Amino acid sequence: MKTRYLRYSLFIIVLGLVTYVALGYGDRPFENYCPFGGMESLWGLFTAGEFSCALGPLNLSLLLALFGLTLLSKKSFCGWACPIGFLGELCGRAGKKVAKEKIRPSGRLDGILKLLRYVVLIVFLILTYRAGELILRGYDPFYLIFSGFGHGTLGLVSYIVLGVLVVGALIIPMFFCRYFCPLGAVFDPFSRLGVIKISRNEASCNNCGDCQKACPHNIPVQTLRLVRHRDCTNCFECLDACPEGNTLNIQAKW
Ligand code: SF4
Ligand code: SF4
Repeated sequence: MKTRYLRYSLFIIVLGLVTYVALGYGDRPFENYCPFGGMESLWGLFTAGEFSCALGPLNLSLLLALFGLTLLSKKSFCGWACPIGFLGELCGRAGKKVAKEKIRPSGRLDGILKLLRYVVLIVFLILTYRAGELILRGYDPFYLIFSGFGHGTLGLVSYIVLGVLVVGALIIPMFFCRYFCPLGAVFDPFSRLGVIKISRNEASCNNCGDCQKACPHNIPVQTLRLVRHRDCTNCFECLDACPEGNTLNIQAKW
């Protein structure tokens, strides 16, 4: 629980800063603070030597910094700083208060649904590179929320997209992050290599499964000695939920 307070404090600071910039108080457009913008700007940089649309060097710097962070500590950005991840987690907690039990797709179905984030990544990049501008703003929850459905959004279609994502987040934990986030797809291979991870002491584990129940990504921690899973955000919810002292620990290991 203490880790969650710390995590949520950081989330609130980041959310506050993005909101501040989105309200027009910063000296840059708020889209400059989106690391996925770094991916979207790559083609323009290689072919024309310039950033497309409202993107700039900050997008690329953030993307490179997050590659480094992911190699160090898996998808910590998602679990500690991403405003969309935070809003998704809050929706999930709200949904749990109403429904008590959440839908947690697992096994093959979950694996197949997770392929959608690679589809989203490829489609987003191809269409953006071909058009030379950010034509998919109307489907991007970060842009829809922080622009207040501003320039480039698609009216009713954008409302439906955000509505589906919110309802999905109420029913399925981390709905957008699990199945649709293109930035998560970019980080997947790097996350597997992340040095800082959770380790489990098999001798003291009682196999209660509380770790998996607490995990927002439904990772079966009780079956692993080291959590190398690509979806792990090092949120440490499993660690806080474990009833056995010194069973789950934070370890630096390749
Ligand atoms: S919560 Fe702790 S004791 Fe229970 S299964 Fe997970 S690691 Fe083992
Ligand atoms: S395995 Fe533990 S640290 Fe990783 S995402 Fe799940 S709860 Fe968070």
